[in-house]
Amino acid sequence: MPKHDLNSVAFPKLNDAQMAALSQCTGAGLKSYRDGETLIQTGDRDFKFFVVNSGKLAIVDESGETPETIAELERGEFTGDVAHLTGGPSLITAIARGDCTAYEISHEGVRQILNRFPDLGDVILQALIARRQILRQSGKFTGLRVIGSRYSPDTFRIRDFLARNRVPFTWLDLETEPEVGELLKQFGVSEADAPVVAWGHKLFLRNPSNQELAEALGLRHSLKNSLYDLVVVGAGPAGLAAAVYGASEGLKTLVLERTGPGGQAGRSMRIENYLGFPTGITGAELADRAVIQAGKFGACMPVATPVSSVIFQSAYSVLRVDGGETVTAKCLLIATGADYRRLEAEGCEPFEGRGVYYAATLNEAPLCRGAEVVVVGGGNSAGQAAVFLAGVARKVYLAVRHGDLYKDMSAYLARRIEETPNIQVLLNTTVRRMTGDKHLRTVELVNNQTGEVLTLKTPALFSFIGALPRTDWLPPDIEKDGKNFIRTGVVVAQSPRWNAGRQPFLLETSRPGVFAAGDVRSGSVKRVASAVGEGAMAVQFVHEYLKQM
Ligand SMILES: Cc1cc2nc3c(=O)[nH]c(=O)nc-3n(C[C@H](O)[C@H](O)[C@H](O)COP(=O)(O)OP(=O)(O)OC[C@H]3O[C@@H](n4cnc5c(N)ncnc54)[C@H](O)[C@@H]3O)c2cc1C
Repeated sequence: MPKHDLNSVAFPKLNDAQMAALSQCTGAGLKSYRDGETLIQTGDRDFKFFVVNSGKLAIVDESGETPETIAELERGEFTGDVAHLTGGPSLITAIARGDCTAYEISHEGVRQILNRFPDLGDVILQALIARRQILRQSGKFTGLRVIGSRYSPDTFRIRDFLARNRVPFTWLDLETEPEVGELLKQFGVSEADAPVVAWGHKLFLRNPSNQELAEALGLRHSLKNSLYDLVVVGAGPAGLAAAVYGASEGLKTLVLERTGPGGQAGRSMRIENYLGFPTGITGAELADRAVIQAGKFGACMPVATPVSSVIFQSAYSVLRVDGGETVTAKCLLIATGADYRRLEAEGCEPFEGRGVYYAATLNEAPLCRGAEVVVVGGGNSAGQAAVFLAGVARKVYLAVRHGDLYKDMSAYLARRIEETPNIQVLLNTTVRRMTGDKHLRTVELVNNQTGEVLTLKTPALFSFIGALPRTDWLPPDIEKDGKNFIRTGVVVAQSPRWNAGRQPFLLETSRPGVFAAGDVRSGSVKRVASAVGEGAMAVQFVHEYLKQM
């Protein structure tokens, strides 16, 4: 969309009828503010949504070195961000310019407007999405500042966590940014404290865990051992689809996600085979839209909530999240997908997060600018990574264990790889050894047929081999196949564990009322569209099961 069009979508003016509709929503109150009064402070959680009735409101970016006014809102214009639906802190400060009056509306009120007044809701929702787009495209917005070394796995983890949760941030690399020492001094810390996270002139956290970061940002909150109709574990495409369908159909729905929404798909820089996106879409954008959609319908989706175990009490599932909190589900959907297997090459482990990566996204890209890099794997994920990295790295070596690029990769992708001049495909090739110091320096590749060894100087290797299902947290009540994928449907009817006295639903596991969808399910098609389809289907079975309860 051209920039001026995007701006008009991001900052629309509501007419009198729309203002009147707004004023009817629960808790909406017209309030007066004095000149200079702050209505929203950068970093506030659970901040309100304001619609200007008279006077002016300034929207100020305080995340950089000097505050900058982004916009001045007048009658009919409104504050707001997708965080109203997805959680997260306010990215801006809103200050009254002169005396003004505005309608003040809660997060819940915003959700009510979106669902009760669809036309007005569309105007608001499109504005909130366009604002994030402008912010990302502007290249000027600092957001959180992450200060840490490119050689630190914790710096990488924090950047990865923020990126996966779409929290805008700027990374200052201790190794290359000259102003970093001075900045750390301002915050009263030293290089030994890094990585640190700062907001504007305030130190926010020192080397936080993902959970601490999520709590500080309002992306995770107490689970309060509530009872839900549906608890979904995993917010990849299957879990996100279940969240949208479950919440939109009136189920009290909770999604627990280990890191951030999107799952494996969130690691893809270009999904080209998902229906309705002929020019492709990044996994991150797809996930972002799904999270907003699920939030609009009221699904609750705290992140950094890895589920460590589940026990069954009468008909309910009781889930324990790392850290000890529990939640109870009438129905449980397991959508924990799969993770890439660790690369078993000599010397690999110490370089994970400092040269060895299991995803190739904008987060990893700066680490290989202008360098030669290695991608390992013969499937679509390796192929996509090679094509993406070819746009940043000088040269990409794609190491494939077998002898045919077309064997496990979609033909369109294999052809694109062959046509990309700076990708060299190495067939029948595996990684033998890695060496380096505080960072990866060399990778030794061996041709399994000729025995020929190729030693490459490289700062980064990307591995996409052998996905393993994430089922290690499940008890034996949930039957798995020989490779630990979850069995569902008719096959579990024969299991001695199946005791419901009826045929299992298509996606039902050996425990009645517990379902599995997406890559984690035995026999599933490992694709975004099939995971989304199964997530949606599972909700239908949840309804059926709840009716019989
Ligand atoms: C780089 C890459 C590119 C791809 N490109 C394409 C493509 O172009 N087209 C296509 O159709 N498919 C593509 N795929 C495959 C597709 O992404 C997967 O099939 C799809 O993501 C599976 O979705 P899912 O929801 O079943 O599981 P996943 O996407 O694996 O999501 C599972 C989620 O569960 C979470 N989780 C795991 N364990 C726990 C736990 N104990 N507690 C809480 N949360 C947990 C994980 O953090 C994750 O977010 C690609 C995959 C990769 C890796």
